[in-house]
Amino acid sequence: MTPEQLLAIDHRHIWHPYAAMPNTLPVYPVRAAHGCIIELADGRRLIDGMSSWWAALHGYNHPRLNTAAQAQLQQMSHVMFGGLTHEPAARLAERLVSILPAGLDKIFFADSGSVAVEVAMKMALQYQQAKGLSGKHRFAAIRAGYHGDTWHAMSVCDPETGMHGLFSRSLPVQYFLPQPPCRFHETWSADAAFALEDLFEQHAGSLAALILEPIVQGAGGMYFYHPEYLRHARRLCDRHGVLLIFDEIATGFGRTGKLFALEHAAVTPDILTLGKGLTGGYLTLSAAVTRNDIAAAISSSASGCFMHGPTFMANPLACAIAAESIALLLESPWQQRVADIEACLKKQLITAREWPCVQDIRVLGAIGVIEMKENVNMPTLQARLVDHGVWVRPFGKLVYLMPPFIISTEELQRLITGLLNALAEEYGMPV
Ligand SMILES: *Cc1c(COP(=O)(O)O)cnc(C)c1O
Repeated sequence: MTPEQLLAIDHRHIWHPYAAMPNTLPVYPVRAAHGCIIELADGRRLIDGMSSWWAALHGYNHPRLNTAAQAQLQQMSHVMFGGLTHEPAARLAERLVSILPAGLDKIFFADSGSVAVEVAMKMALQYQQAKGLSGKHRFAAIRAGYHGDTWHAMSVCDPETGMHGLFSRSLPVQYFLPQPPCRFHETWSADAAFALEDLFEQHAGSLAALILEPIVQGAGGMYFYHPEYLRHARRLCDRHGVLLIFDEIATGFGRTGKLFALEHAAVTPDILTLGKGLTGGYLTLSAAVTRNDIAAAISSSASGCFMHGPTFMANPLACAIAAESIALLLESPWQQRVADIEACLKKQLITAREWPCVQDIRVLGAIGVIEMKENVNMPTLQARLVDHGVWVRPFGKLVYLMPPFIISTEELQRLITGLLNALAEEYGMPV
């Protein structure tokens, strides 16, 4: 198929994320991807600054992940998980339990991040019901958060930038906290938790759980907030019998400089969701992990079980790759790599700090964010970025980098320079 034929079929038949049909924005056909390079069908090679939305930790086409996938294919790519089990799931479970905070050891494997969030929310509801507290049936979340696109995941996304307007008549109403006012690198001040305390004072009686992205709010705003906020949340949840759900779908597996972002605060949630980087970007797989007492309460309730069971639950191929991806991560000097990426981003993104079009520049771990004052012009900026040999996908006011951890110093330099040059051109800044 020629790239022209591909694009014609794509345009006629295929929906893209958050896009019109037919698509009004250009898409670029990809031929292959390896290491940190995405190779377009016309032969252009782009340095990947996105890790395919937080997922491709080890870059693309990694020999060890390929071998794990091929070996598992020879055994089976899938069998149902009702009444059957298999080694890939057991190996992955064992690995996860060994790296998660003590106590989080009951794992539900699901198919995507959004589904893991649905599962976590259902767990919270079934737990409260099992405790005889069916009045605790609502959720609290933080503004500018993002937890996925399915029904109840959507209901805890930011009520303004999310899809609440569109679906408000059908979405359950949740409680929203303002974005934590104290940023990651600022000094903590006690009033930064007032809104949290207020909400619990007023509504804890009807709250099943508080769900949030620890430390880094991802797709909802790329915002980094103070670890102390999480300690307050933990104390309040304990005091009021509200479960604490940490959504680490974006932050898990080293991205923020810790294996899990919760380690910045040394706080353990009651339920944790994982996804995105779980398989190193190879296949869709997610997990909701909880404590024994919560699993036990759900299992001793009237229903006697947890009410969820996806067709592709614990898909063996995905589990085998995920177990290998975690092994690969732990054997690698990932902390040093993330620290090096962080240092490089901090040093070089500064160039744009004084540009009148730039609102803020922030870096944490292997995440670098340039927040513009106005929404970017996607088609023109995207084309410039591609012309400069980098794959960066801005959205709204946010232009951000989160490259695979294996990126070389030279590739990272070219990625940052490409981004800055494209922006300079777009906004008429000297470089
Ligand atoms: C991406 C994301 C999700 C949704 O995951 P999908 O696999 O896209 O369904 C949920 N929560 C967070 C924090 C995410 O970044």
